[in-house]
Amino acid sequence: MKQFFISILSLSLLASCGGSKEYTTITPTVPVIPNTPATSTYWQQHVDYTMDIDMDVNDYQYQGKQTLVYTNNSPDVLNKVFYHLYFNAFQPGSEMDVRSRTITDPDARVGDRISKLSPDEIGYIKVNSLKQNGTALTYDTVGTILEVELAKPIQPGERVTFDMLFDAQVPVQIRRSGRNNKEGVALSMTQWYPKLAEYDFEGWHTDPYIGREFHGVWGNFDVTIHIDKTYVVGGTGYLQNPNEVGHGYETSTVNRPDGEKLTWHFVAPNVHDFTWAADPEYIHDTLKSSNGPTLHFLYKKTLDKEKLNYWKKFQPKAAELIQYYSEHIGTYPYKQYSVIQGGDGGMEYAMCTLITGDRSFGSLVGVTAHEMAHTWFQFLLATNETKHEWMDEGFTSYISDFAMNDIMNEGKENPAASAYKNYIYLAKSGKEQPLSTQADRYQFNQAYSISAYSKGEVFLSQLGYVIGEENLKTTIKKYFNDFSFKHPRPIDIIRSAEKVSGLELDWYLIDFTQTTNTIDYGVKVINGENITLERIGLMPMPLDLTVTYTDGTTEDFYIPLQMMRGEKPTTVTIAPDWAWAYPVYTLKANKAVKSVQIDPKELMADINKENNKM
Ligand SMILES: [Zn+2]
Repeated sequence: MKQFFISILSLSLLASCGGSKEYTTITPTVPVIPNTPATSTYWQQHVDYTMDIDMDVNDYQYQGKQTLVYTNNSPDVLNKVFYHLYFNAFQPGSEMDVRSRTITDPDARVGDRISKLSPDEIGYIKVNSLKQNGTALTYDTVGTILEVELAKPIQPGERVTFDMLFDAQVPVQIRRSGRNNKEGVALSMTQWYPKLAEYDFEGWHTDPYIGREFHGVWGNFDVTIHIDKTYVVGGTGYLQNPNEVGHGYETSTVNRPDGEKLTWHFVAPNVHDFTWAADPEYIHDTLKSSNGPTLHFLYKKTLDKEKLNYWKKFQPKAAELIQYYSEHIGTYPYKQYSVIQGGDGGMEYAMCTLITGDRSFGSLVGVTAHEMAHTWFQFLLATNETKHEWMDEGFTSYISDFAMNDIMNEGKENPAASAYKNYIYLAKSGKEQPLSTQADRYQFNQAYSISAYSKGEVFLSQLGYVIGEENLKTTIKKYFNDFSFKHPRPIDIIRSAEKVSGLELDWYLIDFTQTTNTIDYGVKVINGENITLERIGLMPMPLDLTVTYTDGTTEDFYIPLQMMRGEKPTTVTIAPDWAWAYPVYTLKANKAVKSVQIDPKELMADINKENNKM
């Protein structure tokens, strides 16, 4: 690394004086490049938010006072900072609006609705003042991003305080956040505050809010909300004044101060987002799960009788779900989790989810299973969703399909089977883009969805086929253990798998996530004891094989992929390695062969199953 910088510097010096006749006064035209150590250790930025919010439930406007203590744990000097102002997306002509009106298959919830919002229905966050350690700053609002010039650069290791005053308006509910959703929930307050953008090893992440998705800075939140006293609030964080508030939070006699508004004081440690929802018609139930957090359920008393019954009946299922994830991924670390009716479908947040409430029992459990699993795959393992959407949506889909199969006794042989089907449909459609595509940059919303959810799920399920099921289970736990409360990257899941299995797996990550290469293996010919197989797709894979002999007996084989430099744990017959570049491979079986089947359990995402059998 050091040598690299030196050579760049000397090249620049050469270039800067190449055309000059003055050889005596050489002034470098480039700044001196600091010497960055070649060894890289993980670091992440840190935020401590204190916010005081005054909400007017009549015009849906709120005033905010935000003190943000920001610690620069990076090795870099920061000259600028950026905030997300997500509510600005809900304005006619915004990138979210125009993208939705120009994509072939818009999200039906958005469509052209943003273009039709009147000034009192739009969303906005207007920053009125911003200070750095008491010095007023200049800043510029550019769509959903606030660009801030600092008064003084922030040095590595330095802690600075930003004080901000802002006014905001909650948009009519269109996507995720907003007021008066289709079920009449008054306030779904998600991505509602000026939120510092993340700076990490890749630099600033100032992605505009176009459709998806989120990446935040780890830290602590202290949030005080003043709101009409009839409103019940739920969300991220532990309520600090339950006996002043009541509304189902009280631990003893409720003693409310006088006034039209009630003050709610929440504290949330070690999270990277803060969400809340409020409605005057919420029922608020709590359930203490055994060895787990207290679960809160907030749902509207105006739901019909049958639906109200589902909201009661599913509460123990939610407790079972949190238990399942704690056992299969890692222990839920907070003392509270809330399922709140709100939003526009289902969306995950820190310590809570917002889901629409008018659902069948199965759907209520299923959507909660998915959103709750995101607590692990996004909120604790905080991947950058805009870049690695498959790591949160895909892994969540995987674990929640298995959780549902278990707690709802679905009896599916492979809970991930429909994800394979979806992915194979996409791979053959010609519309697939690599999983490494930025979440907003898919040509079709459908291609985004199938890629992120289904192909991401297949990634993990198929990894179990490649390294063995037990190794996959250990990998998931190791990944959680090593990367919770951090921002893991794709290489981190694959390195976890490599360390657990002892196998070389970089090819799997590259082919399956950075390309649209497909898997297609086939049986070419059977000749006595010899089976000739062919590799038609570009993507390499090890093969599981079931051979049926002419005498009626069967034998299972495993053909290792040579570039893995090893085998998964198996009790079946291990054949010689298949080196990828060879398009054909002949397996010598032990008796005359009658028929052969590649991957009988269908755990490999082979896009053409027709030729898997002979
Ligand atoms: Zn999801």
